[in-house]
Amino acid sequence: MSEQTRFLLSENDLPKFWYNIQADSPVPPAPVLHPATLEPVTPDFLSVLFPMELILQEISTERYIPIPDEVREIYKLYRPTPLIRARRLEKALDTPAHIYYKFEGVSPSGSHKPNTAIPQAFYNKIAGTKALTTETGAGQWGSALAMAGNFFDIAVEVYMVKVSYHQKPYRRILMETYGAQVFASPTDRTNYGRSILAHDPNNPGSLGIAISEAVEAAATSNGAKKYSLGSVLNHVLLHQTVIGEEALKQMDLAGEYPDVVIGCVGGGSNFAGLAFPFLRENLRNGHRTRLVAVEPTAAPSLTQGIYTFDYGDTARMAPIVKMHTLGHSFVPPEIHAGGLRYHGMAPSICALYDAGLIEAVAVRQLSTFDAAVQFARAEGIVPAPESAHAVRVAIDEALDAKRKGEKRVILFNLSGHGNFDLAAYEKYLQDQLEDYDYPVEAVAEAMKYLPKVPLTA
Ligand SMILES: *Cc1c(COP(=O)(O)O)cnc(C)c1O
Repeated sequence: MSEQTRFLLSENDLPKFWYNIQADSPVPPAPVLHPATLEPVTPDFLSVLFPMELILQEISTERYIPIPDEVREIYKLYRPTPLIRARRLEKALDTPAHIYYKFEGVSPSGSHKPNTAIPQAFYNKIAGTKALTTETGAGQWGSALAMAGNFFDIAVEVYMVKVSYHQKPYRRILMETYGAQVFASPTDRTNYGRSILAHDPNNPGSLGIAISEAVEAAATSNGAKKYSLGSVLNHVLLHQTVIGEEALKQMDLAGEYPDVVIGCVGGGSNFAGLAFPFLRENLRNGHRTRLVAVEPTAAPSLTQGIYTFDYGDTARMAPIVKMHTLGHSFVPPEIHAGGLRYHGMAPSICALYDAGLIEAVAVRQLSTFDAAVQFARAEGIVPAPESAHAVRVAIDEALDAKRKGEKRVILFNLSGHGNFDLAAYEKYLQDQLEDYDYPVEAVAEAMKYLPKVPLTA
């Protein structure tokens, strides 16, 4: 039996195509609606915010979309990423299961986010964009876009959720080191930010508010700035599929095939990036891998949300999409996994979940950190608090396999490292970490404000 631990690909194995789930998804996509008229959006509306090449990817049904050479050259700074067999964790759990993880934390900014930040900056560059606006919660997305924007000589303006801005000064400094401008949202730079501050000067901000500010800044720039989103949209999930394409080859090197694939979900991009190529194998080649999306109990859009049309942002400026939502006015509790504090979920993931092709489970903050620390002590890597949700469920699967005496092959996405998140770990170590149950009442309240979309949409 091989004792190999790391399964590595060479630069030549770097994927040449992204995989588009729309080609194989048995569920047709619901229309995307204009936030004011509630009518299907036109490419004209989207082109205020995005370059045409990304709009075409957003609606494409081509199975494979070529990765431009300019993007592959930059991917080579950190791709292919390693697939690692968690042998020491298996021993610690005394499980017959085999546990593998794809480690995206080796990217320069520390997560999977550059997989889409780099092509988004590239397509904006060739469209002549000089500046990009975006939001960031925990700072992972802002760091990735700051890095990618700089590579292509595009100015980057980041609206960072105010609590994170103050709790995570090092993330802000990393973005500034790459050359970006970072503002604590709500700011006084936008009408929406000013309107919030007028009522509530100490508003801590949220991802939904920061998205509204970044969208407004681009939409009112007379074409000078475009907007970039780090998750949720089809083109973002598409770019992330390099993760799963590499993992398929690496599982092959390991001589195994996963029974279950696991990823945490905020907007859904790292989960989709790993899981969609395995879903293709399920749909087209008769495999039966279970695909499990893991969310926090504090923002449980798949497991507790309603599947309906809702706004993508708090100010109702972003398009309306059909998704599992907790309501656009719902502000999730301040869990440390800032990247998972979103009221909705990628529409393509929601459709597949609704069709029973993927599973979802919600886990609590405290047990998530129990798993993260157990993982760090066995494998050495401190997981990002977001990724720790996937670690929790991977461990639960391994323990379930042990109880049942099964040899189960488990693969999960370790979407980022937590080296900038040590304040959260300190709270855990000092027994001061808050735990959160389902936010039942706040969600019930937010449900009153869903858009009244005609049933025909
Ligand atoms: C942003 C982020 C997430 C959540 O976003 P998804 O689009 O759901 O992947 C998860 N893990 C890390 C490390 C992140 O930075």
